[in-house]
This record gives sequence, structure tokens and C-alpha cells, in this order.
Amino acid sequence: MERSQGKYHEKYNSFYNSPAWKQLRAEKWVSADGLCEMCREKGIVRKADEIHHIVPIDKDWSKRLDFDNLIALCKDCHNAQHERISPLKKFLQEFDGDLK
Ligand SMILES: [Zn+2]
Ligand SMILES: [Zn+2]
Repeated sequence: MERSQGKYHEKYNSFYNSPAWKQLRAEKWVSADGLCEMCREKGIVRKADEIHHIVPIDKDWSKRLDFDNLIALCKDCHNAQHERISPLKKFLQEFDGDLK
């Protein structure tokens, strides 16, 4: 394990615990009516469980409190957003999405 790993997590952990983030997250959730925005696009009504950063904060730290960079997601959609490592998985998800 690298030395920098601890610092890395510390930075994000303290952000996710900050009052500013909790406030913004609540505002985003309310503005999305507490519903998953990706499911809603498909006509599915599902409660949002998480607020996700569209551009990950480790890619662009300046967007961490950018309201337009947030999306309300259910657990499944959120997991899907974080499972983009495998190109095959991504392909299958998109293909599956087209068929529905
Ligand atoms: Zn969803
Ligand atoms: Zn996320």
C-alpha cells in the first residue's frame, strides 16, 4: 500500500463528511424529488439512494460542490456508474438498455 493512499482517502472522506456537501446533497435530492434521475429517464419511478458526481471528484476536484455535476441515483444505477472499469460490462449494459 502506498503512503499517499491514506492522504487520498482522508481528503475525500473529509469532503463527504463536510456540512457543505451534506447540505448540497440534500438540496440535490429535493430538486430531483428524491427520485433516481436515470430511472426516471427510462420512465421508472424509483427512490434515489445516493447523490453521484457525474465528473468524479478525483478527476476534477473543483466540481465537488458544482450543483450541475450532481445526479440523484438509486443504488443500482449508482453501482452501474462505478462499474465502468470493464468495457465488456459497459457494452452489455448499454446493449441491454437499448433492448428495453
Ligand atoms: Zn436508478
Ligand atoms: Zn458515485
